[in-house]
Amino acid sequence: MKFTAVFVVATLAVPVAVLAQDGPVVIRADTVFDGRGGTLTNTSIVVQGSQITRIDPAAQGVTYDLRGLTVMPGWIDTHAHIVQHFDRTTGKTPRRGDETPQQAALYAVENAYMTLVGGFTTVQSPGAELDKDLRDWIADGHVPGPRILTSLRAITDRTGTPDEIRAFVRQAVADGADVIKLFATSSIREGGGQTMTDEQIRAACSEAHAAGKRAMVHAQGPEGAKAAILAGCNSIEHGNRLTDEVLDLMAQRKMYFDPNFGLLLHNYLENRDRFSGGNFNDAGFAFMEKGIPIGIDTFKRALARNIPIVFGTDAVAGANGRNYEEFVYRVRDGGQKPMAAIVAATSTAAQSLDLGDKIGTIAPGFQADIIATDGNPLQDITAVRRVVFVMKGGKVFKNLATAASSRAKK
Ligand SMILES: [Zn+2]
Repeated sequence: MKFTAVFVVATLAVPVAVLAQDGPVVIRADTVFDGRGGTLTNTSIVVQGSQITRIDPAAQGVTYDLRGLTVMPGWIDTHAHIVQHFDRTTGKTPRRGDETPQQAALYAVENAYMTLVGGFTTVQSPGAELDKDLRDWIADGHVPGPRILTSLRAITDRTGTPDEIRAFVRQAVADGADVIKLFATSSIREGGGQTMTDEQIRAACSEAHAAGKRAMVHAQGPEGAKAAILAGCNSIEHGNRLTDEVLDLMAQRKMYFDPNFGLLLHNYLENRDRFSGGNFNDAGFAFMEKGIPIGIDTFKRALARNIPIVFGTDAVAGANGRNYEEFVYRVRDGGQKPMAAIVAATSTAAQSLDLGDKIGTIAPGFQADIIATDGNPLQDITAVRRVVFVMKGGKVFKNLATAASSRAKK
């Protein structure tokens, strides 16, 4: 296993040291965000194998000196389409038949690597069939990438009757899905009205729960979102134009809200000519342009209600590998406090994935998913663009720390 990791990393020619050492790894730091809103100062994080074993200011020896940097748990993107990409020659989204399965797999590996070195050690993808092998290859250490949870496929109003939807859920779970994804409403490019019936939504979410899985619900408008909340589904994705009534209901039920008002819409508009077909037309782009201020307003009303907000980007082609830009939009445009944005992307996101006792926090017993930024995001949120150290499960995949930390100490 160790040999595989060294080999992969060496062929990618990145500055990485996956050390074959059996003793503890000691990470020295002067500023550590714990992922729950707290900050530890002048301490060491002690890692044994894949786990954090101690936080110990008196720990002997230093394996990685991250003083001068800001250390925090690896980020979690709760909504990223990790296999989506632009074609490397045309620069546009590929149409069916434009690429071979082998080429699609290589793009997926590229995205996974870029996502990981961008600071994201876990992503939830909702989802594509290719996610499954990507997830398993990464988990086994064959290719570098974030931990992946995937829905493999998604349910829409056209999936069928409630019984057919239940069968679809059971099949997805049998095929290895970690989560169920459903489209309760249309796309933002089509107005976001409710598409699935209340019965269809109930069938999807209750069957997911019967199989021990969560159900994440694409809902742009308030009608579809309300139906999903009342059906007991787990999260509302996007929620571009939720009403106060729906937000109040989410607050009451402590339902996870995964808004994606920043990177997603800006990325589409900035790369307008590269997306084509279907609802990527003038009307669709007009809906997205209008959706930016609406999404910001909804986000602010959600913040005021203490709804548990997670950190999904809905990354597609052009956004994978830049998932961290959502932090900048949230803080700059959405008015979220930087620490709250980081907590959303760490402990709250982990809880929403039912992994709250394993990832998203720097404390003994948690996975050693540890990153560092050059600069403190509390003072300058754009520091999230400068991730210089990435450890996932105790293995280091990126380490530019020495140069960055000596610069910061000057
Ligand atoms: Zn999506």
